[in-house]
Amino acid sequence: MSNEEPKPWPQSLCHRCAAPPRYVKTQSSVFILCPLLPEKYPPQPVLRCALFRPLAALLLLLAPAAAHAAAPSLVFKGGAVLQAPRYRAFYWGTYWNLALGTDDRARLDDFFRAIAPSPRFASVLQQYDSRLQPGSFDGSAVVTGNVASLVTDADVRALVQAQRPAPDADEIDVVFLPRGTEVTAGGAQSCQEFCGYHDSFQSGALRWRYIVAPYASCAGCSFTNAPGLQLDTLRRDSSTVILSHEMAETITDPDPAAGWIAASGEEIGDLCGGSKGVFKTARIDGFELQQEWSNADSACVTELPIPVAKDGSCPPGFVAAQGVCTEAAPAKTGCASADAGWLAALSALAGTRRRRRR
Ligand SMILES: [Zn+2]
Repeated sequence: MSNEEPKPWPQSLCHRCAAPPRYVKTQSSVFILCPLLPEKYPPQPVLRCALFRPLAALLLLLAPAAAHAAAPSLVFKGGAVLQAPRYRAFYWGTYWNLALGTDDRARLDDFFRAIAPSPRFASVLQQYDSRLQPGSFDGSAVVTGNVASLVTDADVRALVQAQRPAPDADEIDVVFLPRGTEVTAGGAQSCQEFCGYHDSFQSGALRWRYIVAPYASCAGCSFTNAPGLQLDTLRRDSSTVILSHEMAETITDPDPAAGWIAASGEEIGDLCGGSKGVFKTARIDGFELQQEWSNADSACVTELPIPVAKDGSCPPGFVAAQGVCTEAAPAKTGCASADAGWLAALSALAGTRRRRRR
């Protein structure tokens, strides 16, 4: 590319960049990518950075002037929002039947069992569609066979289509790449320019929504700078941080840029991770998740108080208390509850944020 074009990132390298950001042009847009290599540069101010979103046709349209003004806000573009997301995980390659892979798989399945139906995970997202409910996990499958060390987005789509020939509107297929395999999408490569992505595609009357999760062991996708990440589970915590980012985005913007999206082109997860120089994470239900953007708070939040339904009911496992649903106390065992901290935090949240809820 000729170098006379003005660059919109004059003093900035992308957070975690090993090299200056670069333009990538697609048929429909221009976007900016930066390579990921956290050890090379400390975090620093960023204008645009597509850590998680390589598919720029969809994202990161250049809007240099408008970006600095007020706090960002997600705006609805009129497309789909998922109302009862159902996840199915596909572990691609024989790696997932080896000892370490089997162990990884069990942990990731546990993550979906806990987070897919979690009212706490859904609580931030529900402000974007009042019909939105906590989701469910449809189970997982190992798709055996040798997988090349570099696969393409088209390969992933072919796998998804073969495994799920008739998806419905709330389905999200999550494809886990084996250790040692990277994926190229939108002209970018995982572990160099992004850590995961989501997208959708249509064939006939059917539409597939999917998340691609490369193995999160590379330097740029192990988030050592995020407070709270446990060193002994660093790789696994990084996986669930990335997954929660993509899950929230797939729910609120399943067909990228047609659902809830900021003027900058960023989605709900992008506003709180990757492009902002720090990953804001928090532990929910035993798993490390990325915070997501809340329009109601003009901030990145972990969760919001769960309102009591009109009929006075709360989600399973929660009870109404002082106008919000709090987690039901665990069965008495004679031991102090490990949930005490969480309940205190929830009370604080309820006190400070109730005025904003409708
Ligand atoms: Zn994203």
